[in-house]
Amino acid sequence: MAALNDPRTLHPKIDPPKQTQPHPGLDAKLDPQADLGLETYRGSGRLQGRKALITGGDSGIGAAVAIAYAREGADVAIAYLPEEEPDAEKIIRAIEDAGQQALALPGDLQELKHCEEIVEKTVETFGGLDILVNNASRQIWHDGIRNIPDDDFDATMKSNIYSSYRVTKAALPHLKPGSAIIFTSSIQAYQPSPHLLDYAMTKAAMNNLAKGLAVQLAPEGIRVNAVAPGPVWTPLQPSHGQPQDKIEGFGQHSPLGRAGQPAELAGAFVFLASDEASYVMGETLGVTGGTPTP
Ligand code: NAD
Ligand code: MG
Repeated sequence: MAALNDPRTLHPKIDPPKQTQPHPGLDAKLDPQADLGLETYRGSGRLQGRKALITGGDSGIGAAVAIAYAREGADVAIAYLPEEEPDAEKIIRAIEDAGQQALALPGDLQELKHCEEIVEKTVETFGGLDILVNNASRQIWHDGIRNIPDDDFDATMKSNIYSSYRVTKAALPHLKPGSAIIFTSSIQAYQPSPHLLDYAMTKAAMNNLAKGLAVQLAPEGIRVNAVAPGPVWTPLQPSHGQPQDKIEGFGQHSPLGRAGQPAELAGAFVFLASDEASYVMGETLGVTGGTPTP
């Protein structure tokens, strides 16, 4: 008999202690540890033989997606910052343990050349590219617009919007009908927090790009969509992504009453990449623990 799982308690309600890490933060140092689905995600061949590139695939949501994609039968390349090597090594092992080819792509996506190189290396190594997940992002909180240094603003725009745009543009010549592009947007695209003004505007831009591009690429058989997560426990948050008072009790304001775990996001990304979503284009799938997305 199938048992019901109550979403309120399927994952623990976390109460993280005060903690901070230098940006970009390591999953390995999160307290409590995030659930990436390593123990739980079971594939069923939904992405058999596909070749995927996930930016920010070393930790958090991107890592959970990398594990799920590999267990669904895809070869997976992950792009990340060089400081994140320990996290990346764990995910590379998980992809290989699933019996798939893995590719590690360290480097800074603020640079145009690197955006182009990660696509070239993926295509060279796997012999093609079918799924692009634009998931890398930088989130540094500031006390309002007067306190955002210009170079910080610039780094956030480059890491989030420029990188998504550039990697997508580089990927396009390789994408065949049946391919999918997925952007990681955010609830912040709709409900911007005053301490995350620059970050929130990049999430709105990524969402908007996903919708416009979906209309352009549908006639070519390439599907473009986005996922808008609510509060999810990842290294983004304690590495200057939130003030300390928002780390304690993180996510408990959501209607479900708890933060999401990266593992709870993977299914949305698998769906949007798979043939089951063949008629789904220009959609932003909210995974927010109940906060409505328009
Ligand atoms: P994360 O820190 O685990 O992942 C973000 C990744 O972005 C990092 O691992 C890093 O590899 C990558 N990155 C950032 N700047 C980079 C650069 N210049 N070059 C290369 N890589 C770079 O955190 P996460 O929460 O899993 O974030 C994944 C996505 O989810 C992001 O787009 C984030 O905006 C989005 N998101 C997260 C939440 C949340 O609550 N955690 C909510 C909504 C949206
Ligand atoms: Mg990381």
